[in-house]
Amino acid sequence: MMEREIGYIRGDGIGSDIWPVTQDVLTHAVKLSVPGAQVTWKEILVGERAYALTGEYLPCVSLEEMKRLGAIIKGPLTTPIGGGYRSINVTLRQELKLYACIRQFTWIPGVPSPLRHPEHVDMVLFRENLEDIYTGIEWQYDAEELKELRDWVKKTCGRNIPEDAGVGIKYISRSGTRRIVRKAIEYAVRHGRKKVTIVHKGNIMKFTEGAFCKWGQELAGSLDIEAPVTVDDCLADNMFQQILIRPREYSVLVTPNLNGDYLSDALAGMIGGLGVCPGANVGDDAALFEAAHGSAPKYAGKDKANPTALILSGAMLFEYIGWPEAARLVRQGISGVIRKRVGTYDLARQNPEFTEVGTREFGEHVIMEMEQIAGSCVPAE
Ligand code: NAD
Repeated sequence: MMEREIGYIRGDGIGSDIWPVTQDVLTHAVKLSVPGAQVTWKEILVGERAYALTGEYLPCVSLEEMKRLGAIIKGPLTTPIGGGYRSINVTLRQELKLYACIRQFTWIPGVPSPLRHPEHVDMVLFRENLEDIYTGIEWQYDAEELKELRDWVKKTCGRNIPEDAGVGIKYISRSGTRRIVRKAIEYAVRHGRKKVTIVHKGNIMKFTEGAFCKWGQELAGSLDIEAPVTVDDCLADNMFQQILIRPREYSVLVTPNLNGDYLSDALAGMIGGLGVCPGANVGDDAALFEAAHGSAPKYAGKDKANPTALILSGAMLFEYIGWPEAARLVRQGISGVIRKRVGTYDLARQNPEFTEVGTREFGEHVIMEMEQIAGSCVPAE
């Protein structure tokens, strides 16, 4: 018996709707496709559930447990805007050194899309996860420390930062750039993809975004790549146009943190919305798999949210731990159900041909589909 312990974070908001369904689908996929394998799901307390039970949003023991397990799947976590606590999502990525946010944008036939040819969209985005303007080094406009910074900027650059301006620090390092670009190129080589595009705003932010492009190109030039992979670059604003009008020309994108955040949601919209976009945050020692969407509090507890993105994140996790057959079965199961025009409200409201089902029922359909594909019927426990 091949046993594998996998950590899970249930998540806030719709996490309590989509996680149990995802867990069921993934457990069935393993049973149906990996002979002798079994998953032991280990809950890790993080977010509102952790706070309710322990008084902390991110208990130290949870972090230690994640480091021990190495592979974790998580539901979305709520972050209040403005004040309140720091984003747990960002903290997790930093604590576990998950420097690569990887998202797949491949259209599933049948999913309603605003594009005429969504089948042309097949991109994988590598977003640098730990640097840029996301490090939380920032000051409120009236912070005492800002006075010194304002004086220093005035003295060294001759520029004024207005008295009523909050300030954040953006930094991008050579080492951080090299490791994310390397990951993107290695992925392209492994998956037979022909082009990697470095997306940046280097015409304006020369020493951060411009350097990201330069260091990325330098790294690409120094690698001994056997497969024919071209590495080019594109300005971030132009990239938003390119993905819409010439999606077939792009395959793997690699971006600094903020550009990647925006581009992810634009690409998600092109293939049918956040409800169907899986993702992973990967470092050298651990990986955290999660949907691109957030906790959508409006739909929490209503059995309405689409679990597809989290289920497909589970497929990425299976590939990561070396169970590609389980990953394939999960994807086939989802595609099969959507091909029959069965889906949650987000898909059904865009296409009247869809039969609308709730979160749980959608999961049951996926399991039935996987059972048919696998040619056997394993009763749910
Ligand atoms: P969101 O992704 O939670 O929701 C935006 C809208 O997208 C929802 O109102 C809903 O219409 C739709 N949507 C999202 N997921 C869906 C699903 N599975 N099925 C169907 N429809 C879905 O974004 P938001 O409202 O900006 O953020 C809500 C909270 O989630 C915030 O606190 C934010 O910080 C957090 N967030 C967390 C993560 C994460 O955990 N990785 C990512 C993004 C946002």
